Amino acid sequence: MNPKQNLLDLDAAAMAAFCADMGEKPFRARQLLRWIHVNGEKSFEAMSDLAKTFRAKLVESAQIIEPVAIKDSTASDGTRKWLIDVGQGNAVETVYIPEDDRGTLCVSSQAGCAVNCKFCSTGAQGFSRNLSQGEIIGQLWMAEFLLRQNPTNLSRGDRVITNVVMMGMGEPLLNYEPVVGAMRLMLDDNAYGLSRRRVTLSTSGVVPMIERLGRDLPVALAVSLHATNDTLRDELVPLNRKYPIKQLLAACNDYLQFAPRDFITFEYCMLDGVNDLDTHAHELVKIARIVPCKINLIPFNPFPGSGLARSKRERIQTFAKIVQDAGIITTVRKTRGDDIDAACGQLAGEVQDRTRVQERRAQALVNAKQGATAERSDPRFGTIVSGA
Ligand code: SAH
Ligand code: SF4
Repeated sequence: MNPKQNLLDLDAAAMAAFCADMGEKPFRARQLLRWIHVNGEKSFEAMSDLAKTFRAKLVESAQIIEPVAIKDSTASDGTRKWLIDVGQGNAVETVYIPEDDRGTLCVSSQAGCAVNCKFCSTGAQGFSRNLSQGEIIGQLWMAEFLLRQNPTNLSRGDRVITNVVMMGMGEPLLNYEPVVGAMRLMLDDNAYGLSRRRVTLSTSGVVPMIERLGRDLPVALAVSLHATNDTLRDELVPLNRKYPIKQLLAACNDYLQFAPRDFITFEYCMLDGVNDLDTHAHELVKIARIVPCKINLIPFNPFPGSGLARSKRERIQTFAKIVQDAGIITTVRKTRGDDIDAACGQLAGEVQDRTRVQERRAQALVNAKQGATAERSDPRFGTIVSGA
């Protein structure tokens, strides 16, 4: 017997094909999508406007595999975090961040991450596996319908979650098809109906995939920059060795032809003594002259063994002022959900450390610090983005 089809793995086109295979008309696919993603229904028997024979066929051949939350915690500021079991000792996290005018869900795309950024606890775990489309959209499905059970969450309208950021665990552009399929459902009027401006994908800079996303499904784009020259970025975001800053900036400008917003958001994690000097701020201004952007400074969220420290408050303010004074919109991200470890980069989950990544990381950290020191005394320092 064929395994049952998980309907969360199907976007609108795939759902239409699935229904056609069962001899059903295209509007049945739309009805099914709406039952699942608009109403949160998981029982085929309850889908009252589907023919009884079709419902019986669905019971035989389809299922909805829900995320299994093994932990559900709410911080004092209302931030809620679910730890989701994805099998074989792996877990990922989904975080809901309520604000006055919006509700944002931070969604994971992979269990672990292969990019291994020096300041990120997900990277420190190594890579376990890609999530399926169903596991990605399942996070939104689960969170939306659980949150709706509390009527106070509904003050903004019918939906609780108004914005999605692909900023949880993993590098979304290294799991391209499932991520794009899930985002298609986020945008689909028969599913979550979010506007492209309210879905943000954050990437460490997978250049060819940024170009592809621009053509396939341009949503708002955030790029994790974190360093303003290749020497330092090579150490902090190792993917930079493959796609250096000049190429990354070119890909950002290419993306802007298609993007729903006329700027890229550059994320910049503030690391004490590593990337937070005045010279770095001036370099960042030069980059902002190349790519129309907003800057989001993220105070580093420490985690055990990182060997890095958060920049001091005054340093962050001085850095922000240099960039702002050059006319570039710069915000400092508020840290949310601190008391439940739900802040950026703390999404450690319980992913097994399958690689020797911790050891490699310790060595790389030593290199990063040496690199940063060399950088400060290097005469090229200050010219940055080598010719970009
Ligand atoms: N892999 C993607 C998306 C997930 S990370 C990316 O790197 O963009 C989401 C954001 O959190 C990124 O900007 C990342 O650099 C940042 N981040 C990771 N670890 C962090 C930490 N310890 N403190 C603050 N921000 C962190
Ligand atoms: Fe991966 Fe993003 Fe963490 Fe880098 S910051 S290790 S790309 S999840």
